[in-house]
Amino acid sequence: NTTHFGFKEIPTDQKVDAVAQVFHSVAAKYDIMNDLMSGGIHRLWKRHTISQSGVRAGQKVLDIAGGTGDLTAKFSRLVGQSGQVILADINDSMLKVGRDKLANMGVVGNVQCVQANAEELPFPDNTFDCITIAFGLRNVTDKSKALASMQRVLKPGGRLLVLEFSKPETECLSTIYDQYSFRLLPFMGKIIANDSESYRYLAESIRMHPDQETLKGMMEEVGFERVTYQNMTGGIVALHKGFKF
Ligand code: SAM
Repeated sequence: NTTHFGFKEIPTDQKVDAVAQVFHSVAAKYDIMNDLMSGGIHRLWKRHTISQSGVRAGQKVLDIAGGTGDLTAKFSRLVGQSGQVILADINDSMLKVGRDKLANMGVVGNVQCVQANAEELPFPDNTFDCITIAFGLRNVTDKSKALASMQRVLKPGGRLLVLEFSKPETECLSTIYDQYSFRLLPFMGKIIANDSESYRYLAESIRMHPDQETLKGMMEEVGFERVTYQNMTGGIVALHKGFKF
């Protein structure tokens, strides 16, 4: 199974190991690459996500696939010392970079780091007021299982925010974006991180991820209600929001 760019789609049984390898490999340079590859725009996408979260002081937030902790740091300020934020990620290299970064920023006290798989969240039912997964869902092997797991651990009245690459709104933007992600991105990965393969995977995973309407349907299927999405940067990224009642 190959795309028109000739890259092989990773078979499901090999995906877990391949994703682990990618994030062990990119962890140390993840933040700088994020800034360079997005021209810093990922900061705006994340800021908008926080503004849509409705999180208040004293609440409990799960940032799953939280990696180096950008959203966690912002939530930590919002919930204050009476609240709690859990930064969870399957990959211990990413989690270590995240933990060190948060400590350097002085984000301590109300943040806990947990190694966890989004498909089998190790928390009791009805625990969190808000769950975020930013640029993480496309890396998860069984996305419906992960969404169901998030639904289970959300409190009634709680909300899930999924920030993820999506389908550009116009053919023209789609073509430019394909050229960027399949040609420039692996090249930058090679030059800056000496790792073109990981950045090829990144481009491929973006291409294979469900589009806006498909993801909305997947969220509804596992029980999320009032599911909506907002396109950002012409649909290159979308923010899906759903509630548990
Ligand atoms: N959320 C961060 C951000 O927006 O900068 C990090 C995003 S990074 C592109 C994707 C993260 O998803 C990685 O840290 C990876 O380890 C994590 N991940 C991949 N599969 C996962 C899974 N099944 N469960 C939890 N985390 C996972």
